[in-house]
Amino acid sequence: MTIYAATSNRGKLAEFVACAWTDGIEVLALPDLADMPEPAEDADTFAGNAELKAVAYSLLAPGKLVLADDSGLCVDALGGAPGVRSARFADDEHFTGPAGADTNARNNTCLLKKMAQAGAGGSPAHFQCALALARDGEVLLRAEGQMHGVMSMANRGVGGFGYDPLLLIPAFSRSVAELTREEKWRVSHRGKAFRDLLEQIRANGGPGA
Ligand code: IMP
Repeated sequence: MTIYAATSNRGKLAEFVACAWTDGIEVLALPDLADMPEPAEDADTFAGNAELKAVAYSLLAPGKLVLADDSGLCVDALGGAPGVRSARFADDEHFTGPAGADTNARNNTCLLKKMAQAGAGGSPAHFQCALALARDGEVLLRAEGQMHGVMSMANRGVGGFGYDPLLLIPAFSRSVAELTREEKWRVSHRGKAFRDLLEQIRANGGPGA
């Protein structure tokens, strides 16, 4: 069985490939993803966005099993923000600085500023991931996973990506950016969701069965 992941994030793809290999499932990048029109991620839940991406991309890749994911960081003291707007947080907040910073750095700085304003240091928070597997516009399987921690008021660590330096995981006494790749995959929202999806495939004898 081959699953085509609709992601341009090489780190995510490598994690899916390594995890599915032991089940004899091949995970490949969806061919020509860069040339496909991106659906508007306008659902108000992670699951809704994962499903609309899986449906849209599977219609553009007839007959293929297409995996889409949506994920983000939810901070309790900010009412769950940035949440489904995680990738676009700084833009939504009209936050431009610091000069020359890439999107991740702008999002992280913007979040640190919001947390300082709200006195949100140490707030419980979690990463959430929703996955949807579709073929020809029909969603066949869904899975979700969470990774819980508390917010740091400064960047810690240089590994990972996105908001990883801002979430501290009490069981490790480290930020997600200070975990090894293997440690992160074992406890991460995405790892949990993907292992759940593989379990459903195993239990059903196949995704559409
Ligand atoms: P997407 O699911 O790739 O669209 O990611 C949405 C946003 O959530 C990205 O901008 C990331 O900053 C953030 N995000 C999702 N998963 C992670 C993670 O594992 N670590 C850090 N940030 C993440």
